[in-house]
Amino acid sequence: MYDYLIVGSGLFGAVFAYLAKQNNKTCLIIDKRAHAGGNVYCENIEGINVHKYGAHIFHTNEKWIWDFVNGFVEMNNYVNSPLALYKGQLFNLPFNMNTFYQLWGVIDPNEAQRIIADQIKDLNITYPRNLEEQALSMVGVDVYEKLIKGYTEKQWGRSAKELPSFIIKRLPLRFTYNNNYFNDKFQGIPVGGYNRLIEGLTRDIEIKLDCDYFADRPYYNGLARKVVFTGKIDEFYDYQFGELEYRSLTFRDELLPIANFQGNAVVNYTEYEVPYTRIIEHKHFEFGTQPHTVITREYPVQGYNKAMEPYYPVNDDRNNGIYNQYKSLSKQEASANVIFGGRLAEYKYYDMHQIIASAFKKAQTEFAIS
Ligand code: FAD
Ligand code: UDP
Repeated sequence: MYDYLIVGSGLFGAVFAYLAKQNNKTCLIIDKRAHAGGNVYCENIEGINVHKYGAHIFHTNEKWIWDFVNGFVEMNNYVNSPLALYKGQLFNLPFNMNTFYQLWGVIDPNEAQRIIADQIKDLNITYPRNLEEQALSMVGVDVYEKLIKGYTEKQWGRSAKELPSFIIKRLPLRFTYNNNYFNDKFQGIPVGGYNRLIEGLTRDIEIKLDCDYFADRPYYNGLARKVVFTGKIDEFYDYQFGELEYRSLTFRDELLPIANFQGNAVVNYTEYEVPYTRIIEHKHFEFGTQPHTVITREYPVQGYNKAMEPYYPVNDDRNNGIYNQYKSLSKQEASANVIFGGRLAEYKYYDMHQIIASAFKKAQTEFAIS
């Protein structure tokens, strides 16, 4: 009998298991995939750590989170500076003076601000109600049309008018020549890949792979006093209030016999007509010098059904409404010894640092520690 059965070996499950062990609790982690790590898992292909579920860049403003991660793995000094390719023309991201110079030939930040203000003034957007209005009111029409609309609509498979505005607020807007995609104080990639972080967190903790909790729920429940569930909350409740929508993706890897394919880790293809959203060249995350390279094209999957891999929650009003019903049930469930955590169980667009903070918070409550 374990103290905790942890369903899911992703970052939430791994951090919770680590903290449980620190508090002298026993854990069994199960995962339905054939590997541990959830979406941060890397596969080593010819000496290159390939981010199998999309590019993962660690960033945080919290020193304690940065120190925590560095306790398990050395972080390198990679700074994410993606490029956007629109109809054969390259632009720097996030939206900054380099982008505005490339768009309008302006070198004066005040002039760039004037151009944007001029484009916004006739739109009459006081309170942005959706992603399109939010984006237009931040950066104006040109940036929206070339760098946001096509990318967003193919990525999310719906009109930007039907998406919540918070998604675009993730991106910085600057009037300086700074191509750093994040504003956070700390940023990097684990030297040797993310698997080292997961291995460090779960050292001496039993993990069983290829085990789907739903294949034999009573059996798994019987193995531990409590369950930490990091899978899909709607599945946990047999979809009784309806299915939650997620955005799914397909990743196509290619090993190429050349040293350098695109000169940057991330290039976004922002026009709607290109079927993939971005190409990742993994070696550049770790400054690789191999004579070959691995690239991955990330394709959005149109439509979603529950047989697909759920990558991103779609936090529109309809889905949030359904989620809130499951959440109410989960509060009752808490007394029945289930802890819900992570991107799928909380139906939240969490980044890695937020997952760590959330796992700490739940563990602190659980183990009554500060
Ligand atoms: P997951 O990693 O999804 O782990 C859940 C685990 O539970 C999975 O391994 C799954 O197989 C398992 N599971 C589910 N159901 C069952 C079941 N029934 N039985 C057994 N096991 C089950 N964050 C950043 O900070 N920076 C980035 O650059 C970044 N880029 C991203 C890019 C993409 C394409 C995606 C999808 C996410 C990105 N993220 C990024 C977010 C990051 O992946 C998440 O914050 C984090 O990995 C979530 O961890 P988790 O443990 O909640 O979920
Ligand atoms: N986005 C965009 N153009 C880009 C990059 C991002 O329009 O070149 C928008 C898009 O709507 C996306 C959101 O900004 O969903 C957040 O981007 P981020 O890179 O944070 O997405 P993630 O890495 O989570 O896929």
